[in-house]
Amino acid sequence: RYAKESGQGAVIYNERLDELIRTEADVLRRLKESIQQGTLEVWYQPIVLLENGGYSAAEALVRLPDGRGGYFSAGQVISLAERNGLVEELGDYVLSRACAFMRTQGERLGLRRISVNLSVQQLLVGNSADHLLALIEASGADTGRITLEITESVLIQSLDRAAQALDKLRQTGIHIALDDFGVGYSSLNYLSNLPVDILKIDRSLTKQILTSPKQYALLRSIVEMAAINGLMVVAEGVETRAEQEAIASAGVQYIQGYYYARPMAEKELKQFLAEKSGARGEETALPRA
Ligand code: C2E
Ligand code: MG
Ligand code: MG
Ligand code: MG
Repeated sequence: RYAKESGQGAVIYNERLDELIRTEADVLRRLKESIQQGTLEVWYQPIVLLENGGYSAAEALVRLPDGRGGYFSAGQVISLAERNGLVEELGDYVLSRACAFMRTQGERLGLRRISVNLSVQQLLVGNSADHLLALIEASGADTGRITLEITESVLIQSLDRAAQALDKLRQTGIHIALDDFGVGYSSLNYLSNLPVDILKIDRSLTKQILTSPKQYALLRSIVEMAAINGLMVVAEGVETRAEQEAIASAGVQYIQGYYYARPMAEKELKQFLAEKSGARGEETALPRA
């Protein structure tokens, strides 16, 4: 009886494992296909300049359709791509799409910059800067309108090897943003030596500033250190008016969060930005009937 029970357990366990592996293999297959067929989507989340309420930038975020009308989580897709040697191809795809969007739509939508996430693997391959610059050039986009985001924790781990590529990219006018800043490492001392232009405060810190005076004070000192070093600060994950107000009072210049806008497909973004610039009573560069 005992043997039989444990035998059944093993069968159930194997089925679950099988299901998991099948799911990963399925996502991977869909990812490869969607890159080849050009059906992998790139969505955009607006970034607001608090000073004038303008939607001055947007972050490109990958969206893989799940075949059931939804999307797999971007985090899952990126991690899978990184573990299966696909992240460079994925990164090239997203960068090219985002640059093409910037070149064709950016100016008339009032976007000063488009932001694209980079996996550290994309930076550590040989000739990474030349490769990325060639892609941007081929798209016709202006390097001054491109920001590349790299996660703080992984950048710090491989700074020696990544610094040269980052320097080369920055020399062309590309901005570098330190993503997910303020979790883990968050040493303010090294800020003066980093080849970056923008700090993106992680959502986990944004979430705590209303309830924790200590975290609010940390945010204020980040803002202060950023100012001393000539860096811009973007707060991610702002979802409520109260959070928006606290972030603004801490001196942060840019906000990205559901409070203003969620990530959206290209078509929705165009509509959204056209409506917003209309609502602010500004001249829009959209064609007139
Ligand atoms: P990230 O670069 O830090 O991007 C911000 C994430 O926070 C996005 O999740 C966005 O949808 C989410 N977010 C923004 N505002 C709010 C808010 O107010 N509340 C909440 N709850 N969430 C908010 P997403 O699109 O799921 O992407 C997750 C991560 O996947 C990204 O974090 C980035 O690290 C990675 N990723 C996405 N696209 C790419 C890509 O094309 N290449 C690479 N290498 N990584 C990417
Ligand atoms: Mg990012
Ligand atoms: Mg982030
Ligand atoms: Mg994040």
